[in-house]
Amino acid sequence: MDKQSSLLEEMNSFQVNKTVNSDSIALLVFGACENHGDHMPFGSDFIFPLELAKRISIKIRNLIILPPIPYGVSLHHKKFFMTINLEPNTLVNLIENIFSSLIDNGIKKILIINGHDGNIAPIEIASRNTKDKFPKVTIACLESWWTLVGELSSNLFEVWNGMGHGGEAETSAMLYVRPDLVTIKRAPADTIPNLPEHVRIYWNIDELTKTGATGASKKATTKKGKVIIQILEDLLVSFIENMEKTEWKYGIHLKSH
Ligand SMILES: [Zn+2]
Repeated sequence: MDKQSSLLEEMNSFQVNKTVNSDSIALLVFGACENHGDHMPFGSDFIFPLELAKRISIKIRNLIILPPIPYGVSLHHKKFFMTINLEPNTLVNLIENIFSSLIDNGIKKILIINGHDGNIAPIEIASRNTKDKFPKVTIACLESWWTLVGELSSNLFEVWNGMGHGGEAETSAMLYVRPDLVTIKRAPADTIPNLPEHVRIYWNIDELTKTGATGASKKATTKKGKVIIQILEDLLVSFIENMEKTEWKYGIHLKSH
């Protein structure tokens, strides 16, 4: 057998039986299907995280990537044409169903790469419910890569730490992984939302932008995208390697090695 895919959807049952066991790490990608401006694809929120997941799977042998969930909670994007929205409870149930299926099959290590802000709360609720039922399972999540990269690499971005919906970071990331899906000449003018600093407002995105995009999309470059994916890849690979050393134990269950 030649080099085998880490994508569950591409594996046959022979490969699954041979590869998947209680040591496997299930990697889940949650995205959305919504407007990201005139320059970025509707599937941005899972296309980039899935590419990141594939890169990680080259380095981590016992990783199984599940089919990405292409829809998310997009209530705050509904005003824009062709937004496909899951009600929050639908997504919570969906995530819990996936978790239960994994756990029924002996999986104890679950890692999520989330690509969309509306999914953060449902992922947390589903994870807490699952953790309550199955305390031995470890569930980990990279909740918000698009804000994290700016925090980790403050010199990388020119405007607003790279943030924004289809903004400098997201557009750069997509330019690097799927340049064919970015029309940079249609990127909107900079839109930095007028929002208070320390207290969160639960906005609808049409209150912030007329195009569906925010941030400084025009400042996006392939070079920045390459740095972004490298930062995230390194971070997740080192996270997984450290967790593997302790069999995904942490806190007071961590025995010194
Ligand atoms: Zn989104």
